[in-house]
Amino acid sequence: MDDCIFCKIIKGEIPSFKVYEDEKVFAFEDINPISPGHTLVIPKNHAENIWDISEEDLLAVQRASKKIAQGIKEALGVDGIACMQLNGRAVNQEVMHYHLHLVPRRADQPALPITRWSLKPGNMDEIKERAEKISAAIK
Ligand code: 5GP
Ligand code: ZN
Repeated sequence: MDDCIFCKIIKGEIPSFKVYEDEKVFAFEDINPISPGHTLVIPKNHAENIWDISEEDLLAVQRASKKIAQGIKEALGVDGIACMQLNGRAVNQEVMHYHLHLVPRRADQPALPITRWSLKPGNMDEIKERAEKISAAIK
C-alpha cells in the first residue's frame, strides 16, 4: 500500500531499527516504546487487521514472534513479555497495517499499564448467552 507507513518501512523508504526479517515477516523497534525493547512484528504483505490477514501470514508472524521473544529475553534479560495486537480504530489501532507488539518488562522496571486491569465478575447469564452467539457464528 503506497500510503502505509509500515509498508514504507518494509521497503526501506522510511528508516527503522530492524531486529528480524524473513520471507514473510519484518520486525523493528517501536519508536515510542512502552518499555525498553518494545518491538513490532509485521507481515510483509499489507493487511489491516485480524479479519484481513491471511492465515499463512498470521502464522508467519506468530512463528517469528517466538524467535524474536527469545532474542529479546536473551539480549535484555527480561522477566516477561506482553504480546498485544489491536484491531480497529475502536480499540485505538493507529497504524492500519497488522502488527504484533512485543512489550518486555524486567521485574525492576515500572509496571506495564497494558497488563493491569481490575477483575470484576460479569453476569454469568449474559456471558453464557454471548458465548453461544459467538460459538454459533464461528465457521
Ligand atoms: P497501534 O496503536 O496501531 O497498535 O500502534 C502503532 C505503533 O506504531 C505505536 O506504538 C507507534 O509508536 C508505532 N509507530 C508509529 N509510527 C512509527 C514509525 O514511523 N516507526 C516506528 N518504528 N514505529 C512507529
Ligand atoms: Zn502496509
